[in-house]
Amino acid sequence: MKKYWLYPILLMPLLSNCSPVERTNLEGITLSSITNSQRKVSYRLEDLCKSSNNRKDIILNLYIAKSPETDFYEKNKGKIAKKISSFFESKNITCIIKFSDSELPGYKKHNEFGIEILPNGKSLGKRFIRIIPQETKEQEQQEMEALAGCSGYSILPKQICLFNASWEEEKYGLDYNSSKLKSNSRIIADTGIFTHEVLHQMGLPHPETFKHEIFESIKGGVPNIMGENIELITPSKEHPLGADINDLQKKLIHNYLGKGDNYKALQYSGRSLRVYIENVALHNGFILADE
Ligand SMILES: [Zn+2]
Repeated sequence: MKKYWLYPILLMPLLSNCSPVERTNLEGITLSSITNSQRKVSYRLEDLCKSSNNRKDIILNLYIAKSPETDFYEKNKGKIAKKISSFFESKNITCIIKFSDSELPGYKKHNEFGIEILPNGKSLGKRFIRIIPQETKEQEQQEMEALAGCSGYSILPKQICLFNASWEEEKYGLDYNSSKLKSNSRIIADTGIFTHEVLHQMGLPHPETFKHEIFESIKGGVPNIMGENIELITPSKEHPLGADINDLQKKLIHNYLGKGDNYKALQYSGRSLRVYIENVALHNGFILADE
């Protein structure tokens, strides 16, 4: 299997949304502001997982910015949509993909999300700042720098994920025109990133977030799609993206889409994944790994 399967996930731990507490502050959410509402929800893992496995559905809006770097995605958007849908289908979730010709407005419904495919790291940073305005130029600069090397980033408060179409070329200093990396394998790898980011929107953290082995990074040789340190693996009929989620994660997303405690926990955490993670750790006696 192509080596680059590994890289998107490796890029994520620091740059994706589970990272720093500063991120929480930059998105305008503080722990103290949510103390009262926290009491309305159970953060116990057993409650977060309670779910009926009946069919759920999600709407995924997809916007592809017009640029030479994103042509590959424009040409392959049908394939990409099909792969994302098949992943969710295998979890008993119908995924309706809607293509949009313009930037996404953000969503409030529990089951509606968006992905914007942007030309490069710089455009991703700029878009982030337009969605989440920063107070100072210095903060803007810091965000731009942090996001420049990012393959994908989930903005939970707006239910939008941003994707950098040039992440791999930027990482290896390749020109997108001469890059031979854009291939069927790239579609699989990138679909893995899209799915990873959308699953963050439903509250799934990286498996490495907690010291406890709650979500295995690898199970039966199959890397967790939310994981960082995955081994190389070939997609199979059973795991078409080469990585997957486990039963516990499936229960968490079903609970979320059924508006159960996992949904409430994320909402009451101000849709800050960091705050949610801290609450889950606190109420379950989990220890956070150093990030
Ligand atoms: Zn991530």
